[in-house]
Amino acid sequence: MGQKINRLKGMYDVTPDQVWVWQRLEHTITAILKEYGYQEIRFPILEKTTLFHSAIGEVTDVVEKEMFTFNTRKGESVSLRPEGTASTVRMVLQNGLIFNDPQKLWYNCPMFRYEKPQKGRNRQFSQVGVEVFGFDGPDVDAELLLMTSKMWQQLGLKNVRLELNTLGPAECRAAYRDVLISYFEKHNDVLDEEAKNRLYSNPLRILDSKNPNMRSMIANAPLIKDYLSESSQAHFKGLCEILDACGLAYQINHKLVRGLDYYTHNVFEWVTDDLGAQGTICAGGRYDRLVEMQGGKSTPATGFAMGVDRLVELISDHDLWQPVAQTHVYMVYDKAIPGHEVFQLAESIRGAIPGLNMMVNMGQASFKSQFKKADKSGAKFAIIIGEEEFEQQTYSLKALQDRAFGQQQMSFEELVSFLSSALTA
Ligand code: ATP
Ligand code: MG
Repeated sequence: MGQKINRLKGMYDVTPDQVWVWQRLEHTITAILKEYGYQEIRFPILEKTTLFHSAIGEVTDVVEKEMFTFNTRKGESVSLRPEGTASTVRMVLQNGLIFNDPQKLWYNCPMFRYEKPQKGRNRQFSQVGVEVFGFDGPDVDAELLLMTSKMWQQLGLKNVRLELNTLGPAECRAAYRDVLISYFEKHNDVLDEEAKNRLYSNPLRILDSKNPNMRSMIANAPLIKDYLSESSQAHFKGLCEILDACGLAYQINHKLVRGLDYYTHNVFEWVTDDLGAQGTICAGGRYDRLVEMQGGKSTPATGFAMGVDRLVELISDHDLWQPVAQTHVYMVYDKAIPGHEVFQLAESIRGAIPGLNMMVNMGQASFKSQFKKADKSGAKFAIIIGEEEFEQQTYSLKALQDRAFGQQQMSFEELVSFLSSALTA
């Protein structure tokens, strides 16, 4: 007897009873992306490790401790993508996509991070990401937020709130960074190990810490808003004005800094309290310097990534959606009829009714046992081919849920026309 092998920690399977949630979610989101004129891209799961080091930043959770990194047979260090922005920037540069044109792009794919698995935090998880290149104004940031808000609406999510902040351009950040370092130096006794390690390399990230012992110290830290230039304040104000005009509510959170090094100006998170600790379902912001840092010509950019797993959890935990039975029709037949004849009939029905969901009973069995399976499949109708129907080339259609309909005998043409209109009803 062989031994069962289980899946890796932090990874999951999507079983048939759950896959419909994923499909409906992805369908809703991608339809809205299309409505707003965004185009899909796909890129490899594996990239050179150096891409993530240079694009995400050395002093980040992702690069320091979360990447799945290994050497190829030739000794080159490669990593499973932990996020999509680095690959998108590489891709638009390598393919000359932003040479003269702006681009509005999206992807939906699995990411890999070696994290401590818990609810809403997996080692393989899916993100829908949007990345926009070539627009420097706050209008496109506003569009991203209006678009995501429309997604929540259509998904039926209620308790989500939008938190906004601005980090200003690099120059303002540099001044703020110095002030922040002196503040943290003064409170050295409260800093944990991680904060001490980040003090000089990525002090803003300390503001993001979830350590309760540092909470009150962080609450009193100086705020970036007091160090922003007029033009950077105007950028943020421009964003808020569009959101106000369109009636999209938000909260300004001065402590929101996002984990990654490359953000500038507007940053945001969509948060829900319905998921426990891992409540951020979508996060992003502007990253005007990244393209240049990756060897391209200076190009403004902005985007976000949403956690698809967390959305699926939200929908499933709260029973927001009800499954719709996939099988519409189940075909049962007398066990005396040769299998190849049955298949021929089934194929002609399928050919005549595109889009029909039909299951044909497999193997020969009594009508009783076939009807049990038909009921279990959730089908609305059973097509019955008994000896009599087979000889007369007719079909009996039985409603499995609607008693009033009972059972009716039909010709092929009648069957096709009945099922076609029942499909669109
Ligand atoms: P956190 O602070 O929670 O670790 P993050 O800053 O690492 O978040 P991002 O890199 O901005 O997260 O990813 C964007 C979104 O992707 C998150 O808001 C979340 O919804 C989702 N996400 C990130 N990491 C995971 C994970 N390990 N499992 C499931 N979803 C995740
Ligand atoms: Mg993280």
